[in-house]
Amino acid sequence: MTEVPSIAPAHNFIRQIVMDDMNSGKHPMIRTRFPPEPNGYLHIGHAKSICLNFGLAAEFDGQCTLRFDDTNPSKEDIEYVEAIQADVRWLGFDWTELRHASDYFETFYLCAQKLIGDGHAYVCDLNADEVRSYRGTLTEAGRNSPHRERGIAENLDLFARMRAGEFADGARTLRAKIDMGSGNINLRDPAIYRIRKISHQNTGDAWCIYPMYDYAHGLSDAIEGITHSLCTLEFEDHRPLYDWYLAQIDLGNHAELVAPVLKSGLTAPVSTPRQIEFSRLNFDFTVMSKRKLLALVNDGLISGWNDPRMPTLTGIRRRGYPAAAIREMARRVGVTKQESVIEFSVLENCVRDDLDASAERRMAVIDPVKLVITNLVPGHEEFLSASNHPKDETRGQRKVPFAREIWIEREDFMEVPSKGFHRLVPGGEVRLRFVGIIKCVDVIKHEDGSIKELHGTLDLESRSGMPGADRKIKGTIHWVSALHAIAAEVRLYDRLFTVANPDDESDGKTYRDYLNPDSVRVVSAQLEPSLAAVEAEQRFQFERLGYFVADRLDHRPDKPVFNRVCTLRDSKK
Ligand code: ATP
Ligand code: MG
Repeated sequence: MTEVPSIAPAHNFIRQIVMDDMNSGKHPMIRTRFPPEPNGYLHIGHAKSICLNFGLAAEFDGQCTLRFDDTNPSKEDIEYVEAIQADVRWLGFDWTELRHASDYFETFYLCAQKLIGDGHAYVCDLNADEVRSYRGTLTEAGRNSPHRERGIAENLDLFARMRAGEFADGARTLRAKIDMGSGNINLRDPAIYRIRKISHQNTGDAWCIYPMYDYAHGLSDAIEGITHSLCTLEFEDHRPLYDWYLAQIDLGNHAELVAPVLKSGLTAPVSTPRQIEFSRLNFDFTVMSKRKLLALVNDGLISGWNDPRMPTLTGIRRRGYPAAAIREMARRVGVTKQESVIEFSVLENCVRDDLDASAERRMAVIDPVKLVITNLVPGHEEFLSASNHPKDETRGQRKVPFAREIWIEREDFMEVPSKGFHRLVPGGEVRLRFVGIIKCVDVIKHEDGSIKELHGTLDLESRSGMPGADRKIKGTIHWVSALHAIAAEVRLYDRLFTVANPDDESDGKTYRDYLNPDSVRVVSAQLEPSLAAVEAEQRFQFERLGYFVADRLDHRPDKPVFNRVCTLRDSKK
C-alpha cells in the first residue's frame, strides 16, 4: 500500500462472506483482483471496485492483483494500460502482482484443446448472423449448430488451423458444447475463441485467435489463485458459465495446462474462485460509459480524458478531488446488490469534508473591483497575521500584505442594495477580514456609468487591539492588496451536463444534447501573493469562495492557474 486508508471499513455482504471463509479455514489467504479492460481511462465507478478489491485484501492480509483483461485487442491501447496503473496508485493502492490476461494465452489455448478432447467444445462454421439466428430468444430454445457433432480429431485439427491463421476473420469460432435449450442464453454454446487478425498491445502478432471474456476471465482468476472474484451485477447470469468452464477444465488437477504461465513467475496456487456480484456505482449528472467518454474526448467536446469536468479518475484528480475523499465516498455508498443512482452531491460532500479539514485558507478575489481607503496615506503598507486554518491552530499563521488600495469582490458591493444585503453599500459599513471596519464614502464611475472604483474609510478604532475591535457589524468580506496581489487564471467548473440523467434517450435526444454550455468559466483573479509559490495539486480554501487547487498541468509560479474544486456549500439544493 502506498497510502493505507485510515478509515474503518464499512461492513457489507461481501466482507461477511470473506470473514466467514477465513473463519471456516476455507482459505488460508484471500486473493482478489481488479480486472480493467485497457480500452479507456478509469472512471469514478471503477473506484468502487478498486476500493472494494484492494480494501478487502488489505484488511484481511490478503493479496490483490491488478489484471488487464486484454482479450479484445481492437479497442485496447498501451496508453490505457499506463494510465490505469497511475490512477490506481493515485487512489492509494498498490498491487501484489501486475498481470495481463494475455500472459495466459498459451494456457487458454491448452485448456481449449482439453475441452475439445473431452467432447466439450467444437469448431463451428456458422457466421455471426447465423449464430444469432440459431441462438433462439428468451422465450424460444435455440437450435443445434450443424457442426456440433464434429469429431474430436477434426475439431482439434481445425482449431490448430484457426490458430495458424488459415481462416478469415469471423469464418469459424470455437464454441462450448453446453445446451442450446438452456433458459440461460449464456449457456447456449457460447463462443470460446474468435478469429481476429489484428495486433495485440501486449502479444503483438503472436496470435490471430482471441479468447472470449467469459472463458478467459474465470481461467485467469483460477490461474492467479483468486479466491473471491468480485464483479458487477450484469455478470450474474454469466456465473453458471464461469463455473462451468472451471469445472470442465479443472485446472487444479491439470498442472500441465498451467505450466506455460509458471514460467512468468506466478506464485499463488491455482484456486477455484467464487464469483460474487454487486451493483454498479452510478452518479447523476454524468455519463460513465467508456464509449461515451471516449466520444467526448475524440469529438473535442472537452479537453481530454483529464479534463477537470470528466468523471474519470484522472479528471477528478485534476479537478482537485482528494483521493481520500473518493475512498470515503466508496465507504459511504457501501456495497450491495441494489441498483441505484447516487447523487453527485454525495461525492462533493466527501470532498468538502476532506478539504474543510485539510485545506489551508487564503484570500482571493475572482471578480475584482478596486476599493481605495482614503484615510490611509499613499504608500501605506503593513503585514497582517492571518491564521492558516481557523479550526486547526497548529497550522500556524501567515503574513498577508495590506495597503491603501485593495481588491474586493464585485458582488460584495451593491449600489442599490437588495433586502437582506449585509455587505458594502454607499454610506454603509462592513468588516474587512483581518483588518477592521470600512465605510463606503464614494462611488467613482466611468463615463459609461460602470463602476471604476470605490472609496472608503477605515475606522482606525476598529483595528485589532483597539477598543472598538469588537464592535458588532453584520457581514465580513475578503480582499487582497492591489499593490501586492498576483494575477492568476482561475477556472470555475460546473457540471458537464444540465440534466440528472444524460443517458436518457427518450425524445430522440442523446447525452450530447444535455452538455452544459457554462460548465467552465475562465476568469482573471487577484490572489494573495503567497499563492504564487505553491506546488501544483496543492489545495486551498479561498475564503468565502470555495475550494481551489493549483492546476496539475498548467500551474507555474510565474503564471498561476487554479481550478475550482467545489463551492463551499451545495448551491444546487
Ligand atoms: P465497458 O464500458 O468496457 O464495459 P466497464 O466499466 O465494464 O467498461 P472494465 O474495465 O471491464 O470496465 O471494468 C473493470 C472492473 O470495474 C470490472 O470488474 C467492473 O465490474 C468494475 N466496474 C466498472 N464500472 C463500474 C461501476 N460503475 N461501479 C462499480 N464497478 C465497476
Ligand atoms: Mg467491462
